[in-house]
Amino acid sequence: MVTSSSPAPAPDFDAAALAAAVSRRRNFAIISHPDAGKTTLTEKLLLYGGAIQQAGAVKAKGEQRKVTSDWMELEKQRGISITSTVLQFDYAGSTINLLDTPGHQDFSEDTYRTLAAADNAVMLVDAAKGLEPQTRKLFEVCRMRRIPIFTFINKMDRPGRDPLELVDEIEQELGLACWPVNWPIGSGDRFRGVIDRRSQDLLLFERAERGRQSLERRLAPGDPDRQERVEAELLELAVEELELVEGAGAALDLERVHAGELSPVFFGSAMTNFGVRPFLDAFLELAQPPVARESDQGPVDPLRPEFSGFVFKLQANMDPRHRDRVAFVRVCSGRFEKDMNVRHARSGRTIRLSRPQKLFGQDREVVDDAYPGDVIGLNNPGMFAIGDTLYTGSRVEYEGIPCFSPEIFAWLRNPNPSAFKSFRKGVNELREEGAVQVLYDTDPSKRDPILAAVGQLQLEVVQYRLENEYGVTSRLEPLDFNVARWVSGGWPALDSVGRLFNCKTVRDAWDRPVLLFRNDWNLHQLQEDHPALELHGVAPVV
Ligand code: GDP
Repeated sequence: MVTSSSPAPAPDFDAAALAAAVSRRRNFAIISHPDAGKTTLTEKLLLYGGAIQQAGAVKAKGEQRKVTSDWMELEKQRGISITSTVLQFDYAGSTINLLDTPGHQDFSEDTYRTLAAADNAVMLVDAAKGLEPQTRKLFEVCRMRRIPIFTFINKMDRPGRDPLELVDEIEQELGLACWPVNWPIGSGDRFRGVIDRRSQDLLLFERAERGRQSLERRLAPGDPDRQERVEAELLELAVEELELVEGAGAALDLERVHAGELSPVFFGSAMTNFGVRPFLDAFLELAQPPVARESDQGPVDPLRPEFSGFVFKLQANMDPRHRDRVAFVRVCSGRFEKDMNVRHARSGRTIRLSRPQKLFGQDREVVDDAYPGDVIGLNNPGMFAIGDTLYTGSRVEYEGIPCFSPEIFAWLRNPNPSAFKSFRKGVNELREEGAVQVLYDTDPSKRDPILAAVGQLQLEVVQYRLENEYGVTSRLEPLDFNVARWVSGGWPALDSVGRLFNCKTVRDAWDRPVLLFRNDWNLHQLQEDHPALELHGVAPVV
């Protein structure tokens, strides 16, 4: 339903209920490199929320589900998780939203976009490996948004690197100060547990039975069991190291934590379920509830009585029976209600949201209401684009979600000219959905699109979906470029500098010039030769 009148705020608005809902909510995403244990940690966290009865159910559920979408088929074949989902669970009086970022090496723009909807991030680090490439990249995105980072150093039950060295690596390499909340006693075969820095209690490492919640045994400082259960030399070393850390580090300043400058650090072992509950407890205490978000009207408080939110991800064909498209909306202010009329900021239209859904992994249920920090799924009749704002009351538009600079480029060839129309429709729709960025040659006789992505997986998904959803086959021809730059001032600015060397000029879907380079060196060379040319790594928001 589309009308031109302004939607009125709900007459039965309950400010106290909104304030309570916001203060109990915590929303976060896990950032990690593949294999660090994200799936394992997620399962254990859900166990405490009572969201699943048995750890292992997250994966098992997916396997049982034979009839998933075509797209899921690709995930199954490759044994990876492409789709971001949202897991909501209640624990200790809090409502937790875990925004699940896709966990694969070939990560895609969706991984970044999910972080745009997160208020906190948990950085999961493998104790044997320390910082790894994907973690570093995702950390940079968190830093851009100044998201609080909680570090969980995992796999302490296995031989790992020296804990002091791991903390030092995070501080030096990421420029992120650390505040260890607990400190490990031994590692690998000699891992005995952790010392809780604030209480000085010793939490004994015991392997929890598979699928069970664990209650770490706490031994207070004077407890004689401490000597009995833990070798003196290991305990002494841990105490010494912790003293070192305490001597060198700053205080646990919540303001700095919330500004993304100071990271509380935890040691544990997700697989054996050690340290997960203490982590969750401390996380709920230290993480920030949904906070004000920047818009064209200034920061919007989550307690603003009127609803507002933005689309951070689109996904097609989650349900093969309906061939639907879902827009994921992060609620930012007010209370969202089913059947609500909201204004779509970009078009100015009013839309009735009749079947909002809550997503739990791949399951969906219709929701009656949602609060700031929550994510809802809306059936998308093709109207929503990534970054779109929905609101009631006075007009507000959130800052767009930036595109990310593509690093992989390939011609997408259409071997079957008679299928040109479907081919073009498919490419355009996938581009609009944000599955991939699309560029074109400046020579109009070369009509094939150039796909531009941040991860190889995006290209495969496009090919797969073109075939399954649009019935067209395609062929990829990799292009030997790794860097893209948009030109400020467009074609006139580019024409004014004359001929360029060592780069290829192409145009994007909005006919803006884009320069492609083989490497950073060529880019720097061009910048030196033409200092007046202003270049940007990401496409300007349209
Ligand atoms: P993801 O790729 O980050 O989702 O990682 P997974 O959760 O799938 O874990 C990767 C591998 O590490 C699996 O074989 C897990 O069983 C293992 N793993 C995860 N956490 C731990 C841990 O705390 N200790 C040990 N020893 N192995 C772990």
